[in-house]
Amino acid sequence: KAVVAIVGRPNVGKSTIFNRLVGERISIVDDIPGVTRDRIYSKVEWLSNEFHLIDTGGIELGDEPLLVQMREQADIAINEADVIIFMVNVREGITAADEEVAKILYKSNKPVVLAVNKVDNPEMREEIYEFYSLGFGEPYPISGSHGLGLGDLLDRVVELFPKHIGISEEDEALHFCVIGRPNVGKSSLVNALLQQDRVIVSNIAGTTRDAVDSPFVYDGDDYVIIDTAGMRKRGKIYESTEKYSLLRAMKAIDRSDVVLIVIDAETGILEQDKRIVGHAHEAGKAIVIVVNKWDTVDSDQQAMKNFEDEIRAQFVFLDYAQIVFLSALTKKRIHTLMPQVRLASENYTRRIETSVLNDVIMDAVALNPTPTVRGRRLKVLYATQVAVKPPTFVVFVNDPELMHFSYKRFLENRIREAFGFEGTPIKILARKRS
Ligand code: GDP
Repeated sequence: KAVVAIVGRPNVGKSTIFNRLVGERISIVDDIPGVTRDRIYSKVEWLSNEFHLIDTGGIELGDEPLLVQMREQADIAINEADVIIFMVNVREGITAADEEVAKILYKSNKPVVLAVNKVDNPEMREEIYEFYSLGFGEPYPISGSHGLGLGDLLDRVVELFPKHIGISEEDEALHFCVIGRPNVGKSSLVNALLQQDRVIVSNIAGTTRDAVDSPFVYDGDDYVIIDTAGMRKRGKIYESTEKYSLLRAMKAIDRSDVVLIVIDAETGILEQDKRIVGHAHEAGKAIVIVVNKWDTVDSDQQAMKNFEDEIRAQFVFLDYAQIVFLSALTKKRIHTLMPQVRLASENYTRRIETSVLNDVIMDAVALNPTPTVRGRRLKVLYATQVAVKPPTFVVFVNDPELMHFSYKRFLENRIREAFGFEGTPIKILARKRS
């Protein structure tokens, strides 16, 4: 999918536009604290196009001077995006910072759409012509606070998407990535996996600059590791910020079927782990939790049980993910990983026959009566699986409003008890029978 970045100096209204475009997406993790707040990367749907949007302004760069920050943010946009929305503000006209950004964007070969914000009424449209001088062609007048002009802006953005996007990723191989805090052992794990008696086909550059895709064969199946851990710092200010690493991780997650989340057994679970895990879960991909550096722990069954309890307590919403304990360094127990990756991916793409599904759902309804809201009872009519990656089920009911969260959870549990689905999230949607 295409990636679009918004750049512009502080207070031109980037976050307002970002939030408008992202909209009130219903996220499966709305109940996890800290995850959905101050988002800088999100999926956007416009007509039949889906793309990812980055708010470069959300990557804090400490107390760097404004011009340095602007340069770094323009650089992020150039590195990460297919199309750049350059935002200026009609009220203040063209400032020195705008000109600085324009210069950097101009030198890159990325398509740029110039958006002039705060054009809140038609009379102000006259004033946008001065922005032609920035050299990006026609300026698009928008109003973040009134939500005006966004349609035309997005039409233009979509026109500029690279033509190959959406057809190139028809690769049969299972893609997975390895994410986690710095120093948990991501690179070591990737190396250990690639060096194990497997055929490494070749290394090809990923679609993202300096993420490396390494294809390999394991037990007769094709896999590709998307390696973001191998990326080396180039000395840019933003490269060491947590938000930027997260952005990188999110892009890798989007291209993956299965996400390996690495936790360090030596340090245990830290705050940063929780944020990373929350974002991984939100992406709706299959997940395997890897507890690395198991060589540093007295590795008896009890220790494993204790660590597992800790993970389950901290990441309640990840109850579907399997946990693997290993050492990337000594390679101990490393053979237990790939079978879990495969299991997770099989479940992620699994389809359940409608008749079998309905037997399970109807048994569930018989077992636990549907809820009643203000005297009206939920009626479950039938269910069908409408998608894979992740498995998504639509339950047709008399009135979706009556489908309480807890009842949905109950149905999910019954589906899991009947079919397993280890390693993958599943989604249940309630629809009115038409
Ligand atoms: P990354 O930043 O997540 O890619 O982490 P690295 O793979 O660079 O590893 C960070 C440090 O942890 C290095 O010094 C590794 O040698 C060490 N390390 C990685 N895996 C293990 C492990 O399984 N056991 C131990 N004891 N150390 C490990």
